[in-house]
Amino acid sequence: MKRVLITGGAGFLGSHLCDRFIKEGYHVIAMDNLITGDIRNIEHLFHLPNFEFYHHDVSKFIHVPGQLDYILHFASPASPIDYLKIPIQTLKVGSLGIHNCLGLARVKNARVLIASTSEVYGDPTVHPQNEEYWGNVNPVGPRGVYDEAKRFQEAMTMAYHTYHGLETRIVRIFNTYGPRMRLNDGRVLPAFIGQALRGEDLTVFGDGSQTRSFCYVDDLVEGIYRLLLSDYAYPVNVGNPAEITIKEFGEEIIKLTGTSQKLIFKELPKDDPKQRQPDITKAKAILDWEPKVSRDQGLRITYEYFKSLPEEELYKAAY
Ligand code: NAD
Ligand code: UDP
Repeated sequence: MKRVLITGGAGFLGSHLCDRFIKEGYHVIAMDNLITGDIRNIEHLFHLPNFEFYHHDVSKFIHVPGQLDYILHFASPASPIDYLKIPIQTLKVGSLGIHNCLGLARVKNARVLIASTSEVYGDPTVHPQNEEYWGNVNPVGPRGVYDEAKRFQEAMTMAYHTYHGLETRIVRIFNTYGPRMRLNDGRVLPAFIGQALRGEDLTVFGDGSQTRSFCYVDDLVEGIYRLLLSDYAYPVNVGNPAEITIKEFGEEIIKLTGTSQKLIFKELPKDDPKQRQPDITKAKAILDWEPKVSRDQGLRITYEYFKSLPEEELYKAAY
């Protein structure tokens, strides 16, 4: 049985990856310090003999007994309110954390896949963003702690590939959504749905003309699974190219939830990217992958999930 270590395994994406690898018949080790994750995301796997959970901070030395075939490094705060609140931990998990994972991979002769991000392109001047674009990041701005950690993580991973011959994969993930996102994580989808469910107006930052392209989690997991098993070591964008302005997105959520609330406009956060859309030519060619779930379908499933949560979840603060 192949053995996979998933750091950040109790988070939104990490927990869906745990499910997928269990389904594929792997032995799965989820490692997480629960700083932004939730043990409830993986509790349903605890009874399985081929699932283990290690409560551990991956920025500290990692010890895993036995063989490892794959390491997926997904540990990192991912939402702007999280990484603005814990900036040093964010920089550490993107630097010390990946260094530990790569060192472990060398000892175990394992293949490493890292969760990179569209944020390596910063506030892009090229549209849509392809993998050859080097980005437009403000290293000392508020988002720099996340963007630069992820850029460093890519550089470190390529260095282990080039100088140590380690098998590595880099996925640049664009905005992804679905069940198990935290209602209070500040990202736009849980923010809007939470507001609609509480009967509050929906807060659009700026004039709402900035764009994002939202990918449903199952599509993303499929792309990651294919990339891991491919032989391609350079970065690959995985995301849904269906681009929408945040104002239009707010209107879609109003329609979906049937709320009688309206959009209200608040100050745009500093360095908020104006346009974001993945160019997925490479993913199509190398992985034979493209997203299958429409925003309409994905939003319905996600809304049902949020509605099913206990009411107190709606009023929980982020920390
Ligand atoms: P998340 O916050 O739900 O999950 C991150 C997990 O990592 C959490 O469970 C958290 O407790 C854990 N973690 C953080 N620091 C840790 C540490 N030092 N040691 C051990 N565990 C630690 O976020 P997510 O949306 O699931 O994001 C997962 C990964 O995907 C992140 O690396 C993120 O940068 C990347 N990503 C996500 C998106 C997206 O749209 N969701 C987009 C681009 C990239
Ligand atoms: N946003 C918004 N209202 C909110 C939360 C976010 O208008 O309550 C905007 C945010 O300014 C950004 C977009 O929605 O332009 C996506 O934000 P998110 O934090 O989800 O992701 P990211 O900016 O990292 O892509």
